[in-house]
Amino acid sequence: MSSIIYLIIILVSGYFLIQPFFRNSPSIPAFASNGDSDLVYKKEELLKELKEIEFDYQMGKLSYEDYVFLTREYKLRAAQVLQQLKQDENFTGEPESHRCAHCQSVLPAEARFCPYCGTETGENHA
Ligand SMILES: [Zn+2]
Repeated sequence: MSSIIYLIIILVSGYFLIQPFFRNSPSIPAFASNGDSDLVYKKEELLKELKEIEFDYQMGKLSYEDYVFLTREYKLRAAQVLQQLKQDENFTGEPESHRCAHCQSVLPAEARFCPYCGTETGENHA
């Protein structure tokens, strides 16, 4: 009786040892940064991957070590993407104060008068 349990344990652990070589091991894609839509896509992909990792772990397809490692990796990447998205938003979002209130021209950051129509910009930060 105990020898059968022993055999099962060997088979199961053997299966888990061999398994990573036969299935597509979860690889983390190397992301190159270009463009906002790309970042949004990356974010969605990462969140989707995280859900899949969670699912795989609960189905017993991932070892706890893999689960912890991958979750941490993907969360880290998701955080990086989110931060990049925020930075891009700040960068591309034209602040209201840098537009002429009169002609809506984009003004140089240090301009006190609009170079197009001469209206004072109301820029008062030193
Ligand atoms: Zn103007």
